[in-house]
Amino acid sequence: MRKFLPVLVVGAIPTLVFAQQNKVSSLVDQELSSLVATYKTIHAAPELSHHEEKTSALLAERLRSWGYDVTEHVGKYPNPDWKGYGVVAVMKNGAGPTLLVRADMDALPVEEKTGLAYASKVRAKDDSGADVPVMHACGHDVHVTSLIGTAKVLASLKDQWRGTLILIGQPAEERIDGARAMLADGLYTRFPKPDYAIALHDNSDMEAGKIAVTPGYALASSTSLDVTIRGRASHGSRPESSKDPIVMAAEYVLAIQTIVSRERSPFDPAVVTVGSIHGGTKHNIIPDEVHLQLSIRTYKDEVRQQIVASLERIARGIAIAGGVPDDRMPIVEASKTEYTTSMYNDPALTARVASAIERAIGKDNVVERPPAMASEDFPFLGLENHQIPIMMFSLGAIDADRIKASLNGDAPLPSLHSGLFYPAHEPTLRTGVIAMSAAILDLLKK
Ligand SMILES: [Zn+2]
Ligand SMILES: [Zn+2]
Repeated sequence: MRKFLPVLVVGAIPTLVFAQQNKVSSLVDQELSSLVATYKTIHAAPELSHHEEKTSALLAERLRSWGYDVTEHVGKYPNPDWKGYGVVAVMKNGAGPTLLVRADMDALPVEEKTGLAYASKVRAKDDSGADVPVMHACGHDVHVTSLIGTAKVLASLKDQWRGTLILIGQPAEERIDGARAMLADGLYTRFPKPDYAIALHDNSDMEAGKIAVTPGYALASSTSLDVTIRGRASHGSRPESSKDPIVMAAEYVLAIQTIVSRERSPFDPAVVTVGSIHGGTKHNIIPDEVHLQLSIRTYKDEVRQQIVASLERIARGIAIAGGVPDDRMPIVEASKTEYTTSMYNDPALTARVASAIERAIGKDNVVERPPAMASEDFPFLGLENHQIPIMMFSLGAIDADRIKASLNGDAPLPSLHSGLFYPAHEPTLRTGVIAMSAAILDLLKK
């Protein structure tokens, strides 16, 4: 008997896991039509960042009805006009690890052009008071609905896990200040501090039914930087009495191209983009100053700091070479609000979540993707120096036929943030809930 015991034990574990996965799949299938209806409701009523009032209320109401301890209005911004619409739902289920799962809730000022029956026709005032169209063009409606589905599965299978589960609805991801607003309002002091944090994001070029992971650095930090090149104004016919900021700005744009190519190691990926340049009012006037708006992307924070220092040094050097007086030196300012850190998917956590999802949806449906220089504010929830292991996986959201057509060159796929983007909602939601539930059940397993 003794001899056979290890065999019995080894055999018993996959059977249990298999039975649990069957339960999850059948629960999700029972819920799917209700989840699709919820998805369409949220999709048709998108809300801009800092204004997620109805979306957060809907999420809070569902989570509360399944026994979660829900707190609303979590989030404090530096701007007192913005309300924090963060939702924190806690389910305590005995001793064990604490896991946080995040879904972002905000939509974008994009006009929907999908022509779908449940397309958004919403218009709203943005923070500057302008009337803008609003659309869930980044799929955050998929994220909220997946969180609702996952919450139901975990509440129904409470006897299969232990520990503390925290589900959060995060506002203002698109403005990258929502995660920080929740932390500033006591996310980790008023509520249990997690041992891990995980999230998903839909993907506009991957098949629905599949998920992707990227161990290690996956997304870049993003820093918005404003540069004012100051000179001395003059009549356009009298360059000798000017310090021409337009010529200096032109030199600056070219000079900073060598920061990445000559100052950085090729093994430290970085991007320096000048996204906007404005100066002057008329043909025959040399203006006083020129404004530039830059975006910097890096993985490592020391690289980010070195690039900011180089941008300051080169701006000053060009001003000195141009004979600009000391009191008119350029101003280089990194935004303190439009900033996010890079996303480092903890390799061990990523491997664990990936294998849990592989067992749930099949090995062939879990792939590895290379990193990108795009950005997210989810990594703030990992705190500085990767104190809390985090990971985010990509959720395929597109019909296989559309992917095939795009690969043939017949119909290019609209990217996220496009007014033409639409997910194959049913298989995407099904996979999103099954994958996230599998990850949670593994991280909080008994
Ligand atoms: Zn987005
Ligand atoms: Zn997004």
